[in-house]
Amino acid sequence: MTNLSPVSDDEAAQTEAPLDTIGLREGLVLRVDSGQYIVHADPDKNNTPQRVACTLRGNLRKKLTYSTSTSQPRRVVTSKRSHHSDAVAVGDRVRFSPIDSQTGIIIEVLPRESQFARSAFRGREQTLVTNLDQLVIVFACAEPNPDLWRLDRWIASAESSGLDILIVANKRDRVDAETAAERFKEFRDIGYRVIETSTKTNAGIEALRTELKGRISAFTGPSGVGKSSLLNVLQPGLKLATGEIGETTFKGKHTTTVRELIPLESGGWVADTPGLRQLDLLSMSRTELLQCFVEFVPYLETPCRFRNCRHLNEPDCSLKAAAAGGKISARRYESFLSLAAQTKE
Ligand code: GDP
Ligand code: ZN
Repeated sequence: MTNLSPVSDDEAAQTEAPLDTIGLREGLVLRVDSGQYIVHADPDKNNTPQRVACTLRGNLRKKLTYSTSTSQPRRVVTSKRSHHSDAVAVGDRVRFSPIDSQTGIIIEVLPRESQFARSAFRGREQTLVTNLDQLVIVFACAEPNPDLWRLDRWIASAESSGLDILIVANKRDRVDAETAAERFKEFRDIGYRVIETSTKTNAGIEALRTELKGRISAFTGPSGVGKSSLLNVLQPGLKLATGEIGETTFKGKHTTTVRELIPLESGGWVADTPGLRQLDLLSMSRTELLQCFVEFVPYLETPCRFRNCRHLNEPDCSLKAAAAGGKISARRYESFLSLAAQTKE
């Protein structure tokens, strides 16, 4: 099949013969842009990974749901026509049939470990990125001073999605060692990884590279904390514009409809996904939210007096007692209450 122009599904059904599976290659979808998919092919026997521009085989334009049974060969259990282009998304691992060294046809999407969807984008769900491993939450040690309440909110969002969390305390050069350590201490105490970095002195950059290796990460955080600067240091040549105002996407070169993974030479990929920052997972219930404040969980093993305790001002509340006794941070407890007030329960 060499015809790369768009074909209707009916047409495709008639013209597509089963593809020879010999010679298929695997890779990672780096970029999705109006029907074209840039795939980072896995290294071949000469160990040369390469970028291959792919189109989709017609039948993949339908949304496929795979059986997850491990005892049987994987089979399609439902197939419905997809109303959007999410059959393949950034982060997907795919099998493709090479046409030549630079082009190919995606014939299969391997099962997704996870996916990030943004609902209600023009009334339909949109997949931003799949198979994300970790959320890198960037704050500055100063300028702007870290808003820890916002950090709690992002952490809860990441926890609810089952993502690993890496906190980056950037602009380390703006404060002394003691201040930097103190500002993020409570998060370290809970068990989160915190890396102090500076794009001016390169402090912490190697440690950050190590944490990004071999994984798909997305960067999030308020405007002006140095996300674009960090990416420029991590991947010289990227030349993202820095210092501008705005929180829509990493500034610069492309529009908000393009989504892409940036491969790092030191290993790993960073998702530049507009919309991820608005991702608001507070559609969860109060009980679910509570699980996202991971250090609270052990204290809830002692039940509160009321089974439906909101942990607000009910008598004999285990969580309130833990906060009063300094077992959990009173600030995080307050933070939970204010987020809980916005949940649907
Ligand atoms: P973003 O909005 O999070 O992408 O932030 P930018 O990367 O655009 O950086 C915002 C401003 O902070 C720019 O003026 C940068 O030069 C500055 N900046 C970034 N990283 C550092 C750092 O480690 N130390 C200091 N002192 N300034 C930084
Ligand atoms: Zn309670």
